[in-house]
Amino acid sequence: MVEFYQPELFPAGQPRDIPDLLGHQAMPALPDFLIDSSIPPRYDPVRTIPSSQVDRPMSNVTAAARNVLGFKRRQQFRRWLRDSPIRKFVNRVTHLGTERYCPCCRASVRRFLPYGLERREEARCPVCAALERHRLIWLYFTQKTDLFDGTPRKMLHVAPEPQLSRHFSSKEYIDYLSADLMNPRAMVKMDITDIQYPDNTFDVIYCSHVLEHVPDDRKAMREFHRVLKPGGWAILQVPITAETTFEDPTVTSPEERERLFGQHDHVRRYGPDYKDRLADAGFSVKVDGFVRELDEKEIARMGLMQSEDVYFCTKPAE
Ligand SMILES: [Zn+2]
Repeated sequence: MVEFYQPELFPAGQPRDIPDLLGHQAMPALPDFLIDSSIPPRYDPVRTIPSSQVDRPMSNVTAAARNVLGFKRRQQFRRWLRDSPIRKFVNRVTHLGTERYCPCCRASVRRFLPYGLERREEARCPVCAALERHRLIWLYFTQKTDLFDGTPRKMLHVAPEPQLSRHFSSKEYIDYLSADLMNPRAMVKMDITDIQYPDNTFDVIYCSHVLEHVPDDRKAMREFHRVLKPGGWAILQVPITAETTFEDPTVTSPEERERLFGQHDHVRRYGPDYKDRLADAGFSVKVDGFVRELDEKEIARMGLMQSEDVYFCTKPAE
């Protein structure tokens, strides 16, 4: 009850002038000597507003609806709908075409959907929701790495994208672990600046578009290097959106971060010198312009970004 009490409306020890809704004359204020200021004023359910609604008035109907279908449940429902096989099947049929092809879900579609704060045409797969970067990295995994050669490998997938994780986790020879700081669908909760696994644990690490959110990204890179086995490899992708990396830890407001770093929860923009940060953490880095080896028609058909490089990092064998 106490949290609903608004002291500014009913200061302790002050008489209250409550309007009389039945039309009777309002009660006169009590004289001071009759008021015991040691007794807090009574909570009044009629006049008091829950503190959570003070800044954001909400109708009773909306409040009730939100209570019944809470935010989490609505999110779960949307996710379920997005990932449900029925939805995928319907999208596969309704978008059927030959113009575009998504390697992640092997759907042939007429076109990809627009996506992004700065709207990009031909970005999102209408069937599995894969974006340009997911399609590129999936091609890279299948065409340029040895991940699917049947050799048992322990793999860490940070911030798992469902379009990719289902491929990794379905292979019985991959000892797959997905991890995330917030996402409850990941197998373990993990802070990548303080990884709860011993040195030399994983053969493969994949982490895409996470480090630009992490204040101490250098520490995260060192942690990835620490838990990677000698001879192992990691694909650590970030958006490259600047000439050189710039960051400013004093910028903390979402508006300012969006203005400077392109998204409300980004803490920097990376430039091509991102490679040097990875090298500083101990990795041997190959910046692979794999996409540009592909045929122009294939790049357009699979909706890839010509400028996107793959940061393939290895930990030299001891
Ligand atoms: Zn797809």
